[in-house]
Amino acid sequence: MAKPHSKRAPQVSVVIPVYNEEESLAGLFARLYPAMDALGRSYECVFVDDGSTDRTAALLREQFEKRPEHSRVVLLQSNFGQHAAILAGFSASRGERIITLDADLQNPPEEIGNLLLKMDEGYDYVGTIRRKRQDVAWRKLASRMMNRLRERITRVRMTDQGCMLRAYSRHVIDAINNTSEINTFIPALAYLYALKPVEIEVEHNERAAGQSKYSLYKLIRLNFDLVTGFSVMPLQAFSVIGFILTILSGILVVYMVVQRIFEGPQVQGVFTLFAIVFFLIGIMLFGIGLLGEYVGRIYQEVQRRPRYLIRAILEKKSADD
Ligand code: UDP
Ligand code: MG
Repeated sequence: MAKPHSKRAPQVSVVIPVYNEEESLAGLFARLYPAMDALGRSYECVFVDDGSTDRTAALLREQFEKRPEHSRVVLLQSNFGQHAAILAGFSASRGERIITLDADLQNPPEEIGNLLLKMDEGYDYVGTIRRKRQDVAWRKLASRMMNRLRERITRVRMTDQGCMLRAYSRHVIDAINNTSEINTFIPALAYLYALKPVEIEVEHNERAAGQSKYSLYKLIRLNFDLVTGFSVMPLQAFSVIGFILTILSGILVVYMVVQRIFEGPQVQGVFTLFAIVFFLIGIMLFGIGLLGEYVGRIYQEVQRRPRYLIRAILEKKSADD
């Protein structure tokens, strides 16, 4: 829930989900804090430990003790996923503007200043396009295809959906905090709530250390959520396909009955028929799976389980809190 903002709310909150990033953290702290100090704006860095099993939580605690007035650490009970972790960070954040950043230094913290400058021009959501994306080829190809599909079937217009370095103004974050959807895709959700969004180009680097936390399966899941969470077009497309196939197969049946009456029983073409039947079964199974995606979303929504559970929050108590 949105909480009343204290008088001492910082101008900027940087929200960073962290999952098993012990190798990246030192490098992140060394660049993030100086970059923020250089901006001359009041700020807080909100780290969310997404149930890491390595030394991540300990490193975050250590950093918090070093810079308590500029840091908050939210420790989640277990691994809830990147987007749930960001949501936990959003509700803990107090800044007038919120930046999301990955912990692996793929998004340079030095770009935050540019995002804020863009917001100064009056935009309430600054999306990003990776100038030269540093990822493996199959991931680039896969996301290009997903981008195109999403553009076509949802209202969300983003050039590059993958880059998490983004800036949001407080009213967008409050709206997101009030959205109770379980599996959501934050940049897309923000797009629906923003009044004046814009995109700028940013640098993108290879992962500084450690490994990507996304397997191919998790990426596919994320994209399914992106499509089924923002559009019912796939279901509607399926009705259309079903309708067309019904007409075509109807014609085929009439043709075969007529042929049976006037030319007698046929035996040839059995395999063609098999091929057609298998093809139709394939489409049917896909349709059932697709329905299942939506039913699964409904199932999760009615369960109303919390999206994340907080174990502890490390923060410095301010006088007016
Ligand atoms: N992350 C997280 N929970 C997860 C997976 C990832 O908080 O279950 C964090 C991770 O620590 C990183 C960010 O989300 O800060 C992006 O993850 P990653 O770099 O592995 O994704 P990629 O860049 O490969 O898409
Ligand atoms: Mg990364």
